[in-house]
Amino acid sequence: MNLIKGKIHSLESFGTVDGPGIRFVTFLQGCPLRCQYCHNPDTWDAHRAVKYEYTPQELLDEVLKYKNFIKSGGVTLTGGEPLMQPDFAREYFRLCKEAGLHTALDTSGAIYNEKTLAVLDYTDLVLLDIKALDADRCRKVCGSDGRNALLLLDELQRRGIAVWLRHVVVPGLTDDDAALDALVDFLRPYTVIQKIEWLPYHTMGVFKYEELGLDYPLKGVEPLSAERIREIRERYRDVFPVKK
Ligand code: SF4
Repeated sequence: MNLIKGKIHSLESFGTVDGPGIRFVTFLQGCPLRCQYCHNPDTWDAHRAVKYEYTPQELLDEVLKYKNFIKSGGVTLTGGEPLMQPDFAREYFRLCKEAGLHTALDTSGAIYNEKTLAVLDYTDLVLLDIKALDADRCRKVCGSDGRNALLLLDELQRRGIAVWLRHVVVPGLTDDDAALDALVDFLRPYTVIQKIEWLPYHTMGVFKYEELGLDYPLKGVEPLSAERIREIRERYRDVFPVKK
């Protein structure tokens, strides 16, 4: 198991947004979705040459160099889509748990199968990005109907695994009060959700499309205003009060 090599796009040793505390964040290569607003299109291709190929143990060895900094935080796997490399993710998280580290999985929930379930055996927190509740809207946003993410959420509820729910608000795509209300109403019964993070659409990844020779699907769409995201955060402030 330990000989599996993870294809790693990049590493961040002092991450502060992908889970509680200071975290060692690993971006895995490959994603099955094509979100219109994705700011990491360079992580899409699972076969693209990467800077690092580590076994789970080699990655943990790297992480342990920072143990003093991350001991009250932990490790996060993100991407791309970390569930594209489930055997690697499971073994890495297993080793991290053995080393006493908190594990967080940042996923779109696009892949839901036996291997996903096996990764959850060693996962403390899931950062789950729901693209849209409505299947047609979801297909428009990311190319998939989003049903697997909802199956994953059900499983997290069954297992009592903590969730930070994420939702990107994009003008013209998901910035719609009725749709946001419906999403929040749908999520309310899930007691494992600790908070919803409303993320404003931004254009910081556009240059990567140019570098990759890809057309940017949201050309001309302005970033969501600070005022609008404040309004949304305020509107749903009391739904899942922060308890980290
Ligand atoms: S799931 Fe994440 S990495 Fe994949 S296309 Fe969407 S935003 Fe990009």
